[in-house]
Amino acid sequence: MTIDQHTKLYGVVGHPIGHSLSPTMHNAAFYATRVNAVYLAFDTTDIEGCIKGIKALGIRGMSVTIPHKSAVIPLLDELDALAEQIGAVNTIVNNHGFLTGYNTDAVGALRALEEKVELEGKTCVIIGAGGAARAIGFILKNHGVRLSISNRSVESGENLARYLDCSFVPLAEIENVSMDILIHSTPVGMYPHDEQCLIPREILTKEMVVMDIIYNPLESTLLKRARSQGCLTIDGLGMFIHQGAEQFRLWTGLEAPVEIMRGEVEQALRVGT
Ligand code: NAP
Repeated sequence: MTIDQHTKLYGVVGHPIGHSLSPTMHNAAFYATRVNAVYLAFDTTDIEGCIKGIKALGIRGMSVTIPHKSAVIPLLDELDALAEQIGAVNTIVNNHGFLTGYNTDAVGALRALEEKVELEGKTCVIIGAGGAARAIGFILKNHGVRLSISNRSVESGENLARYLDCSFVPLAEIENVSMDILIHSTPVGMYPHDEQCLIPREILTKEMVVMDIIYNPLESTLLKRARSQGCLTIDGLGMFIHQGAEQFRLWTGLEAPVEIMRGEVEQALRVGT
């Protein structure tokens, strides 16, 4: 494809951003669908300047990642209802200078889970109380899942549990809880600290579904433990691809080429970008 005067610009803004696989994923999607657009990574702490830049330069859409997902909210013209309820934006759509914020992390996690498991009526413990746990907890609650939150810091864990109207379990007491689904939603075990894992093997039983939202490495120590115990495992790549697919749909109005996006990101992970 040729970059010319009609090429539209998209990107991701965050800090740090060096390891983001969003450019790989979205450029593959634009190329496969013959959309004349490019997607770049912008490493910045200046979210206010970034929003001015999006408007001034007519950047059509932006992914938003750590640490800007909440800070960006007051700078936007409008919030989608789901993003407002979750309190975090990971996607901006620029419609002729009018910026709307969305949250596609929640839908991404939901689709990744629904590919493998029927959710209605299941019990689920989410480990973590950060932005991702909040988005996942919110959407699972809306899909009939009976939820508990577990977290290192009791205060932020209890705050999230209160917000989601569910129970809180201290991390040290998680072995006393029975669950159908366990979702790990902290950075523990991410490359280069692959060997780390918050969950002891003994609590993982073969009836459980275990999802780790980390996708680098693709099979975390938690997922290795879960697989060896006979659990159904779900890696973080599905959530990443589906949140990106929803961004692509919001930006272009087209269905995303999900399998191509997944293939490109898997390839990039294999070669270690
Ligand atoms: P965040 O807002 O920074 O939340 C961090 C959470 O992790 C907090 O609950 C924190 O507990 C806990 N935590 C951090 N270090 C810990 C440690 N050493 N021991 C125990 N708990 C620890 O991050 P986030 O945005 O929720 O993201 C969490 C992870 O999900 C990141 O690795 C991110 O890359 C990944 N993610 C993946 C996707 C995807 O598409 N697959 C999407 C979003 C995020 P305290 O409250 O005790 O500090």
